[in-house]
Amino acid sequence: STMPPLLSAIANAGRHGVLAKSAVVMERLGQADMVALDKTGTLTEGTPRVTDIRPAPASGLDEDTLLVLAAAAEHPSEHPLARSVVQAARERGLAIAEATDFTSTPGAGVSATIAGSTVQVGSPAHLDPTDRLGAAGDVRALEGEGRTAVLVLRDGAPAGVLGIADRLRPDAKATVAALTELTGRAPALLTGDNERAARRLAAELGITDVRAGLLPQDKAAAVREWEAQGLRVLVVGDGVNDAPALAAAHTGIAMGKAGSDLALETADAVVVRDELAAIPAVVALSRRARRLVL
Ligand code: ADP
Ligand code: MG
Repeated sequence: STMPPLLSAIANAGRHGVLAKSAVVMERLGQADMVALDKTGTLTEGTPRVTDIRPAPASGLDEDTLLVLAAAAEHPSEHPLARSVVQAARERGLAIAEATDFTSTPGAGVSATIAGSTVQVGSPAHLDPTDRLGAAGDVRALEGEGRTAVLVLRDGAPAGVLGIADRLRPDAKATVAALTELTGRAPALLTGDNERAARRLAAELGITDVRAGLLPQDKAAAVREWEAQGLRVLVVGDGVNDAPALAAAHTGIAMGKAGSDLALETADAVVVRDELAAIPAVVALSRRARRLVL
């Protein structure tokens, strides 16, 4: 065609289901020295399911009451884990109470008032870092099985632990292999989830550089560290918690289908079709276009 190479690359990227926001972005995609991938919603399908419901013995709660308590607090949240908890309660036909005073902390969890009690649902590492509440046994057992363990507190006391499992995307392994080939370096994994679950999944994919338990600003700090070493980092993420890293990166790509508005706005490009394999494809397209431009 007679179109300038970068413009036809944008059009081609569109055919692969990737929307690059400018010609400059299209050019930068191929310059990446390494790729950093978010876990939940990026390497995994982002449609996790509740697999375990373990009420704390001292709480007096049964499985259903623990689940509805958590679901009520999670109901206002758009986080994939929150949606899985609400979905599990619905599947059991449980009525979800109204939450007030809802707050969410990206990378950590949520808090809300349910029927006069303060209910917190989130990462054990953030809610109870020193295991003052004694839930660590259940948490470790679940994480050892590759699950995300979520702690539920009512008025500061343990109500129980939920185990949540997410599936790898079918094209995750091939995508990691293709990106390794293209950049000459295996991608890194950036996740707010626990180290055990993250390492288990990374091992399946051939990823060894695993940074777990990260808050949104920690993900950005990791990216800035690599950039300070002269590495141009391509970050791929989907969540509000990925926005600072997407902004810090040389180039940021958001997963569009389940991606949060903030991630989509912050990223330089968006995967509009829900296929991870589009990412190595557009990196290769960008390189080909640059060869034509230079
Ligand atoms: P990732 O970086 O893998 O996309 P997030 O940063 O979104 O994961 O979440 C990190 C951790 O924070 C989760 O594994 C979970 O423990 C906790 N968390 C965050 N949001 C919620 C929520 N709405 N409900 C329960 N736990 C949450
Ligand atoms: Mg995510």
